[in-house]
Amino acid sequence: MDDRPRPHWLAVAVPTPAHSGLGEPLTYRGDAPLPPGSIVRVPLGAREVLGVVWGAAAPPSADLQAAVRPLAGAFEGLAPLADDWRRLIEFTARYYQRALGEVALAALPPQLRTLSGAQMARRLKRQAAAPPSPAAETTKTIALSADQAVATARIEHENGPFLLFGATGSGKTEVYMQAVERLLAREATAQALVLVPEINLTPQLEARFAERFGAHTIVSLHSGLTPPQRLAAWLAAHAGRARIVLGTRVAVLASLPRLRLIVVDEEHDPSYKQQEGARYSARDLAVYRGRLLGAKVILGSATPSLESWHASTPETEDGPGRYLRLAMPRRIGAGADGGLPKVRRVDMGRQPRGTLIAAPLLAAIGERVARGEQALLLLNRRGYAPVLHCADCGWKSECPHCSAYRVFHKVDRTLRCHHCGFTQRVPRVCPACGNLDIAPLGRGTEQLEERLAELLAGVCRPDGAPARIARIDADSTRGKGQLESQLAQVHAGAVDVLVGTQMIAKGHDFRRVTLVAAINPDGALFSSDFRAPERLFALLMQAAGRAGRDAAASAGSEMWVQTHHPAHPLYAALKTHDYPGFAARQLDERAQAGLPPFSHLALLRAEARSQEAAQAFLSALAQRAQDALARDPALAAALPHVTWYPAVPLAVQRVAGIERAQMLLESPARAALQRVLAACLPLLHALRAEPGHRGIVRWAVDVDPLAL
Ligand code: ADP
Ligand code: ZN
Ligand code: ZN
Repeated sequence: MDDRPRPHWLAVAVPTPAHSGLGEPLTYRGDAPLPPGSIVRVPLGAREVLGVVWGAAAPPSADLQAAVRPLAGAFEGLAPLADDWRRLIEFTARYYQRALGEVALAALPPQLRTLSGAQMARRLKRQAAAPPSPAAETTKTIALSADQAVATARIEHENGPFLLFGATGSGKTEVYMQAVERLLAREATAQALVLVPEINLTPQLEARFAERFGAHTIVSLHSGLTPPQRLAAWLAAHAGRARIVLGTRVAVLASLPRLRLIVVDEEHDPSYKQQEGARYSARDLAVYRGRLLGAKVILGSATPSLESWHASTPETEDGPGRYLRLAMPRRIGAGADGGLPKVRRVDMGRQPRGTLIAAPLLAAIGERVARGEQALLLLNRRGYAPVLHCADCGWKSECPHCSAYRVFHKVDRTLRCHHCGFTQRVPRVCPACGNLDIAPLGRGTEQLEERLAELLAGVCRPDGAPARIARIDADSTRGKGQLESQLAQVHAGAVDVLVGTQMIAKGHDFRRVTLVAAINPDGALFSSDFRAPERLFALLMQAAGRAGRDAAASAGSEMWVQTHHPAHPLYAALKTHDYPGFAARQLDERAQAGLPPFSHLALLRAEARSQEAAQAFLSALAQRAQDALARDPALAAALPHVTWYPAVPLAVQRVAGIERAQMLLESPARAALQRVLAACLPLLHALRAEPGHRGIVRWAVDVDPLAL
């Protein structure tokens, strides 16, 4: 007789290797029933891994039962993950075409994997001793602006989701805090989640929330934390002790058993889209999660994504919008003009050839510096020059491993590939013909910083000292803490002119900046990427929002744009701060071209040693998928609604010696696209295993891709 306890068969989601094809939970044997959502340790192959109990499994047939492996352990005392959390993970895995276990485990703090049951028990005991966070004690009452009062009241009394369309400095953050405050006052145990696009925006926000609600009620959750910090924050959220969770996109999948409110600040920001593994959009998942829970969702932006803008249009051809739009067009403390900076376009076609900074802009910068104000100059190219070039033979600094040029960095005299990182010292002579005269082509932030020092040589600050110039970009902030210390310098007023990439355009509250200039933004006007204009407009509006944050200074603040196309509608809309006008035109174009939000896209990507192999893989998949779908009566109906485009090379076709190809799928019907993608997945796994496609290095599915 078998004297073991009666077995309980459990379906456990485990982190199966991304493309193993094992998407479903695996069956394990437990000695006791465990509720769904329990976090357990299980054997997987030769390893022991973390898993999440998804439910009871069907009992295996008698001859297979002996082969089912037992659980290795469970975290006793750790509450199971909630049903709605598991629904969210299921949706994420299904919608973004990834394995369930992969998504579930990626949403848990990495340190859980290394913790023993005993260690966890000790930890939970320690935390149980800590008193629960009391409801927020608000000390300060703030007189809301009229716009804020209306937005706050509507958020309180209507269901949403809300699109808070508020100019930079209109007080969106205050509206978020009001919503949180009212929620916490109303519901004794409720939790709020506030998402920001970038880690370096969390400290600023955390300080504001901590001042209002007390530091003990808040945790931050993002990938910049150490593993122990992340575990502690996750546990606080999971136990419901943290009332407010601030985080980046990973936090949208956190366990929050009493979640009642989700805020997505700067909802248009591309950082909300994960670019590897499960390529989810944290913004879209926030909306889904809100609906699942009946929790309120607030998306906030001065330049909403066209998707959200369209969804919040009160009347469209398909009926009323899904989101409620709340507008706050005026800056706090501003006069009738709204307090937004004056936009000035400089026609570079009328400037002497090769002008880096037009004379009137230079003069304006000089005046600001002389008055003790700050100027911010944006150039979206780091390094000294994007290419090094030999005028004699035409040699250019191509990367031998990528279809891209290596960028000239003068500081350490290197040529660096920004795609694969390949770095060499700058050659003394042209490697092709020996010419001594190789010269930089184009300009990057390093060069702007260097030239600016010469151009501003005669300019003095109010105290008579020369202008101080600093640069912030990915190169200047590589070391840990460097970005923080450089930003602190700017805040402290130790910098007069700040040069940088888009890194400096986002969110930072620079009080003394009264002039912002985009040095060379034209590239995006004619990009092949259909979202490039939207991103440029958002970036410039965002940058303009850096100018004149101080109400006293906002009257004289300016945003300068150097352009060869001063009459371009995008700049015309920028001049009048007319996001709705810009959006309307873009949406017209998108509607005509059948692009999102009027259609839904997915990309199938393949990488291989040769471009032919990558494309052949995708073409074979398309053929097979279409055959399979046509044969299946349940799926055949979806087929005519999906357009398959041919496989093509990516814009940067080769990176680190690997060729990249992609195939676009497009459909006006999201559900049809989803069905087709789901049918593709097993075929992709099968195809990859075939001898004819051994050359495939990796493949991926990107649903709702941001860039084509
Ligand atoms: P946004 O998030 O829309 O860019 P913020 O919430 O950061 O705007 O607000 C801009 C500035 O105005 C902040 O310094 C904030 O403290 C201040 N502010 C916001 N609301 C009010 C208000 N009702 N009264 C006074 N100052 C306010
Ligand atoms: Zn040469
Ligand atoms: Zn390279």
